[in-house]
Amino acid sequence: MKRVEQLVARRSTSLRALLGNLSGQSGCATGIPEIRLGGQMSITVKMRKEDLPAGEVLCSYCTAKCCRYFAFPIDTPKKRQDFSYLRWFMLHGRVGVFVEDAVWYLMVFADCNHLRPDNLCGIYEDRPDICRSYSTDNCEYDDDAVYEKYFETAEQLWEYALAMLPPEKPHRFSTRPVAVSTVSLPVIA
Ligand code: SF4
Ligand code: SF4
Repeated sequence: MKRVEQLVARRSTSLRALLGNLSGQSGCATGIPEIRLGGQMSITVKMRKEDLPAGEVLCSYCTAKCCRYFAFPIDTPKKRQDFSYLRWFMLHGRVGVFVEDAVWYLMVFADCNHLRPDNLCGIYEDRPDICRSYSTDNCEYDDDAVYEKYFETAEQLWEYALAMLPPEKPHRFSTRPVAVSTVSLPVIA
């Protein structure tokens, strides 16, 4: 998902560079600049942080990216079973795993219940501390974050696990004879 958004953002930026001087611009209902091409079609371009008008808030131009997921640190997976649990989480969908500064995180994509249709917070005065401490200075508006590792699917994670973990030891059957006293056979009447 993040990669798709990155592609869209990059494309918007390049379109803006190509078209910015060729046509007029007008503000659309969301406050996001819109370029009109001869009345035939219009392209909505993303507001660049550096172009933000004085006194305006970047969040007004955002689709509330930071309100559509939550993430928390998890123990570094070391064993096959650790990865197997992570794989199980991810098989449910809308779950990602990333690593930043050597810390592993589970990321759950889910919109906050208080996100309004206009992408603003419905409980702004009473929002949780973590929302209060978040800043546009280092947020995901530009989608330019690069993780040390990022697994979007369970398959990616499992492929990584199989490559990193030592091969499983094949099950060995004993060739020693088994004492009769330890064998329990069914009694046939
Ligand atoms: S803090 Fe950043 S990501 Fe969150 S809504 Fe504002 S601009 Fe968007
Ligand atoms: S409480 Fe408000 S700021 Fe926090 S995640 Fe929900 S909508 Fe976003």
